[in-house]
Amino acid sequence: MTEVSTRRGASGRIRAAQAWIEGAFRPADVEFEHGVITGISTPGSGMRGTTIVPDDAVLLPGLVDSHVHVNEPGRTEWEGFRSATLAAAAGGVTTIVDMPLNSVPPTTTVEALEIKRAAAAASAHIDVGFWGGAVPENLGALRPLHEAGVYGFKCFLSPSGVDEFGHLDRAQLAAAMEEIAALGSRLIVHAEDPRLLHDHGALGPEYGAFLASRPAASEASAIEAVIAEARRTGARAHILHLSDAHSLPAIRAAKADGVALTVETCPHYLTIAAEEIPDGAAEFKCCPPIREASNRDLLWEGVVDGTIDAIVSDHSPSTVDLKRSGGGDFGLAWGGIAGLQVGLSAVWTEARHRGIRLEEILPLYTTGPAAVAGIGSAGAIAVGAPAHLTVFGVDDPFEVHAEELLHKNPITAYDSRVLTGRVRRTWLAGRAVFDITDGGPGEAPRFRGRPAGRLLRAEWATARG
Ligand code: ZN
Repeated sequence: MTEVSTRRGASGRIRAAQAWIEGAFRPADVEFEHGVITGISTPGSGMRGTTIVPDDAVLLPGLVDSHVHVNEPGRTEWEGFRSATLAAAAGGVTTIVDMPLNSVPPTTTVEALEIKRAAAAASAHIDVGFWGGAVPENLGALRPLHEAGVYGFKCFLSPSGVDEFGHLDRAQLAAAMEEIAALGSRLIVHAEDPRLLHDHGALGPEYGAFLASRPAASEASAIEAVIAEARRTGARAHILHLSDAHSLPAIRAAKADGVALTVETCPHYLTIAAEEIPDGAAEFKCCPPIREASNRDLLWEGVVDGTIDAIVSDHSPSTVDLKRSGGGDFGLAWGGIAGLQVGLSAVWTEARHRGIRLEEILPLYTTGPAAVAGIGSAGAIAVGAPAHLTVFGVDDPFEVHAEELLHKNPITAYDSRVLTGRVRRTWLAGRAVFDITDGGPGEAPRFRGRPAGRLLRAEWATARG
């Protein structure tokens, strides 16, 4: 187990006609005691004390999102642990791994990690783990953060967007990979090659100008460098937020060769195309950018054939003012998409349009991201796992309204989208932390109880005691 604080969970039994267990749907009674799953059985006749999942919904393990920028402390007006974890719970997510930047201080020292952990301990409604940062200033000295329990280290190969988190050049990338290999950790990489970016200042309100400023060749070049270093050093490497599908063949080939490589993409790359982004609509700005519809089709191939390991939100919010700064100029607006709460719904809506089954995308929301971060106990309904569960109404229609989402600032690329499939209820350690029926019509759903999310440490840290 990876948790360090042992807040006791609840006991009970949940019955579902379709529960997602070991990669397939089947009828099951899921029993749990003190927040831990103790039994999975074929539904019997006894009903007493059993929570029944309606037949038009499925029971899933709590989802895992290994790429979330919480921003607290330091930029808590952008997002905080309370709002981020409530939004996550409403989206069926029970475990997030927080990114090391946009908070101040960034998570590049043990002291900064402890500051983050203190902030999260007070207000996290779901489980939270942490990535560390690998920046020019701490290269050669990553071991203390590793031993303090970060799941791995994030680096940028191009400017990060915030001054306090510098990027690595190619020589520093090589050094970081060697250090990571020696530690047995993992390096997760924002892969854009700055030599191929044209991102200097104002670009105007036209989305095409922004897209042209961050060409696919930039991602391809950086990804090639990461693969080469992973191959050379044997270090585990992970490509963050893949946008350019033309890099999939190189990733496939490296994986086939046994390079320790994983890759994620995001709902916005799978559900939105550059051609449909209106001029001046900075809520769609992120880096790397959302690309053309033809590229999106190829990304879906990578989802279906298993090349892509995880679909994660890259929830990277800011204030509305910052998103609108520059009056819709794509060069000046903050780059980052807020969509933590609607990821599975958006991707499922697109998947069913494409004739892709829910079974094909669920691993990328559960075991996939859990493996990317190395969180052994998350993302599965299994005996011994925490009773983190969620009910997904697969046919439930809803329209997204930015102001109704639970993340802090009411702006999202998914505003006004009509989606199919909605999270109805989420349990953390057997306790309902979100229930969509709790608020009356027109009311916001209520949340139960005090923040009971646990702070997770990587297993190499807990093994040390
Ligand atoms: Zn990110």
